[in-house]
Amino acid sequence: MNVPDKIGALMEEAEALAEPKLKQIDKRVDHNQWKVIRAFQKHKVSDYHFAGSTGYGYNDRGREVLDLVYAEVFGAEAGLVRPHFVSGTHTIGTALFGLLRPGDLLLYMTGKPYDTLHKVIGKPGDGTGSLQDWGVRYDEVALSPDGMPDWNRLADKLRTAPPKVVGIQRSRGYDWRPSYTVAQIAEMVRFVKELVPSAIIFVDNCYGEFTEEAEPTEVGVDLMAGSLIKNPGGGIAPTGGYIVGKKELVELAAYRLTAPGIGGEVGAMLGVTRDFFQGLFLAPHLVGQALKGSAFASAMFERLGFDTHPRWNDERTDLIQAIRFTSADHLIAFVQGIQKSAAVDSHVVPEAWEMPGYEHPVIMAAGTFIQGGSLELSADAPIRSPYIAYMQGGLTYAHVKWGVVMALSNMINKGLL
Ligand SMILES: *Cc1c(COP(=O)(O)O)cnc(C)c1O
Repeated sequence: MNVPDKIGALMEEAEALAEPKLKQIDKRVDHNQWKVIRAFQKHKVSDYHFAGSTGYGYNDRGREVLDLVYAEVFGAEAGLVRPHFVSGTHTIGTALFGLLRPGDLLLYMTGKPYDTLHKVIGKPGDGTGSLQDWGVRYDEVALSPDGMPDWNRLADKLRTAPPKVVGIQRSRGYDWRPSYTVAQIAEMVRFVKELVPSAIIFVDNCYGEFTEEAEPTEVGVDLMAGSLIKNPGGGIAPTGGYIVGKKELVELAAYRLTAPGIGGEVGAMLGVTRDFFQGLFLAPHLVGQALKGSAFASAMFERLGFDTHPRWNDERTDLIQAIRFTSADHLIAFVQGIQKSAAVDSHVVPEAWEMPGYEHPVIMAAGTFIQGGSLELSADAPIRSPYIAYMQGGLTYAHVKWGVVMALSNMINKGLL
């Protein structure tokens, strides 16, 4: 393979440097792999559960056991795991619409949520059927300059207008802020419940699954949602989302996904059940591969003098690795280099475009087996200053290393390094 000498030497250094981190990630994988296997065993997952259902999908035992296994893995009372969720946004939207009624207040305590949720929250009278169009009230607490919740302002808001639902986004998304560890989320839960015991705590867990040994629903979070084309789908689930949490709240979300009175009792699985089970089984390992790739990439770019977030040796609680470049050219060369390293679609050159749901042009590298699957090596960057690329995923650690090589080679070829 043609690795320029300069990059080859740097790779050796970066990998040696990151070695203790890589070992720590392996330990985490062991823990989560065993946790997932134990959940399968407890619910006696069997070959016959993998059969798909059709039509209404009544009495689909595989689907029921899948829900139970997810609930077990996430330390929750109930689960709703379905291919009928078209994306993470749809899954989160379903959970929120399930919980909120006109006049209720939704308070996001971790600043502005992920871009695609802005239109789900919407504006009063926007005519789209967004939360605010339906009469749900919305407020958010901007983060402190250090990226942590602004506890004083949060306390003020909780006291003056008690919310029905408090939203927490675990992952940084497209922001230069820390992702929140499960321990920090536990602290947020305690803080909110002390002031408003009735508040329902909802967590957007996208990208967080299996990055730590515990999940937010194990530390008092009431309802949580995520995407199956990210971590828990294990690179195998072709589509879908999951919701886990308190039984009655999961049921409200299920009423919203299908219809009141029907809920999660129906829904043909169309042959994806085995993929969902197998993906969940593989997820801890693949998340580990992706995390190793991120730690390595972070070490590499730090050595080259770029700012990274998290730093290579920081605690990781999601898949996202942010790298801050000095120009749009670096950003574009990086994303295009990641694309060049892919097994799928390496010959296409990503360009920035106005993606539905996003507010700035976004350039994305996604040479993936599952369209948009971001447990697979992918990179996104809104073209806006400061020029930050967000890379995530990698089904194999070796692929991520190759991606970094291609990204750096691309920059060298363009005279940017
Ligand atoms: C990906 C993501 C979403 C939305 O998921 P889509 O599948 O892109 O709709 C929401 N929140 C966070 C934090 C995410 O990472």
